[in-house]
Amino acid sequence: MDGKVALEEHFSTELNNRNWDAKGEEDRNGKAYAQDVERRLLDPDTCVAEMDRAGIEMCIMSLTSPGAQSVVDPRKAVELARESNEYAQSFMAKHPNRLSAFAAAPLQDVKAACDELNATIGKGFVGVLVNGYTNSGPDEEVFYLDEAPLDDFWSECARLGAPVYLHPREPLPSQQRSIKGYPELGGSAWAFFYETSTHAVRLMLSGVFDRFPELQVVLGHLGEGLPYMLPRIQHRLDEQREGNKGSKAKRRPSYYFAHNFHVTTSGHFHTKPFLEAVDQIGADRMMFSVDYPYEQMDMGGRWFDDMRLEDALKLQIGRENANRLFKLGLSQLPHAAAAGFGS
Ligand code: ZN
Repeated sequence: MDGKVALEEHFSTELNNRNWDAKGEEDRNGKAYAQDVERRLLDPDTCVAEMDRAGIEMCIMSLTSPGAQSVVDPRKAVELARESNEYAQSFMAKHPNRLSAFAAAPLQDVKAACDELNATIGKGFVGVLVNGYTNSGPDEEVFYLDEAPLDDFWSECARLGAPVYLHPREPLPSQQRSIKGYPELGGSAWAFFYETSTHAVRLMLSGVFDRFPELQVVLGHLGEGLPYMLPRIQHRLDEQREGNKGSKAKRRPSYYFAHNFHVTTSGHFHTKPFLEAVDQIGADRMMFSVDYPYEQMDMGGRWFDDMRLEDALKLQIGRENANRLFKLGLSQLPHAAAAGFGS
């Protein structure tokens, strides 16, 4: 299918690379993989060439994990986020019909993060991507998105209509005892999903979606395991309801999942879990993505194109849902009218 939109696609900058622990990537995946990833992260033109081969019309790009979230000094975090957003502006100007972006947000300084949102959203940037928890001091001082005084940030996202992509990062070292001796499990093969799904469930239980019901959060990797696990989480929370009296949220997690979350296919090109995710969250909240350059665009594109789905469903998940959520203003494909999309 031509005309796909992909939205968990990454870039980096020289400044970010100096902060980034590429060694972890080398340890897990080998030197050749890490070097190839690093080269492609720094070259948006390569990204566009790969999009052409995979039938992807537009990518929403974001600063690779952990980005601004990992910078302890708030001043340096603001500097890194600004530099990243300025760089994104330059490649969007070069490829205006092909590349869009999520803003980087230096949450260590909430006011600066809100300023950054106001400077970017609606000006080529269509949302914000947050790479998990944010470092706020030495010795593993961090906060999650439901902690710290972040209501100004959430309120600004709601006011601007900016969806928040919650992207993985590695769990804190002190929380990696269960995988000690198995460094290959520390990243995308295993630890990313439990770190990020825990973060998402914290948000569901925090009450943030009661205060800001219009907020929209996007999860990658077919929902970080939640489409499969949420029914059990819900069941056990219901069974433990006597113990939930202090719950900060007014509704059950399944309600927020259905009203405040979206799921992409990034890095998880497998049809059975895809169908499970569609079943749990609904086709109108599913979107195609790749996870470039950690994954190959042609591999993700081919898997999606070859899936036995009705054409209308493929068009909805491959393009129209992202076009609507992020107000991309993409033109209607010739066959879209017949499938009942848009005007
Ligand atoms: Zn990613």
